[in-house]
Amino acid sequence: MQITYDQFKVATDAVKGQMDAACAKAGRAESEVSLLAVTKTHPVEAAHYAWRYGLRSVGENRVQEAAEKRPEGPDGLRWELIGHLQSNKAKLAAGLFDRVQSVDSEKLALALERGAALHGKTLAILLQVNAGNDPAKFGAEPAEAPRLLEFALSQSHLKVDGLMTIAPLSDDSAVAQRTFARLREIRDALAAQFGVPLHELSMGMSGDLALAIAEGSTQVRVGSALFGSRPAR
Ligand SMILES: *Cc1c(COP(=O)(O)O)cnc(C)c1O
Repeated sequence: MQITYDQFKVATDAVKGQMDAACAKAGRAESEVSLLAVTKTHPVEAAHYAWRYGLRSVGENRVQEAAEKRPEGPDGLRWELIGHLQSNKAKLAAGLFDRVQSVDSEKLALALERGAALHGKTLAILLQVNAGNDPAKFGAEPAEAPRLLEFALSQSHLKVDGLMTIAPLSDDSAVAQRTFARLREIRDALAAQFGVPLHELSMGMSGDLALAIAEGSTQVRVGSALFGSRPAR
């Protein structure tokens, strides 16, 4: 591990401070926004740091990496998949993760449904929506979201908690702000159309978490601001 627990604690206190300030500014309660510690590329000690601090969930973007780390991780910690998932790994992912945030097609939703059924569990999911219309990002296009939601809601082993997005890379903070506002609008429209709460809005990372909280994020996914920069891979 590149950093000590004490260094991690200082960094995490600072991120919490940013989150709390953003909540105060937006007139929201601090309890409305959770912090997902993104442990990808870091050794399993990162998950132990998160747990010791009091965080209860971590995010990973590769199935194989999480499969190796989770058995060595703290008991009780929730593991969430935030990276792109191929249907051929859905069976493994459905058993391994407590929630999959990157569901962006009916094909993948069906593969996860079958995997969850095999494991005898109900799998929580988020639908990833490309709310920034970024050609470089995965995620269902906003126009496809109603069909994808209708399909996911009809599956008996999936539970749709809400939506996830990643803002396009840009030097202009208005781009991220618009993306987050758009995801909230899409959520509000889908919730009304289908009569489901879709409570979770997973949006915001190290560089844009305050903007996301101002636009209604209920979960920020933070890696480098907690654990330092990741090695290239
Ligand atoms: C890596 C990653 C994050 C965390 O990014 P940081 O900039 O390190 O905070 C958040 N969300 C997703 C989907 C990621 O892949």
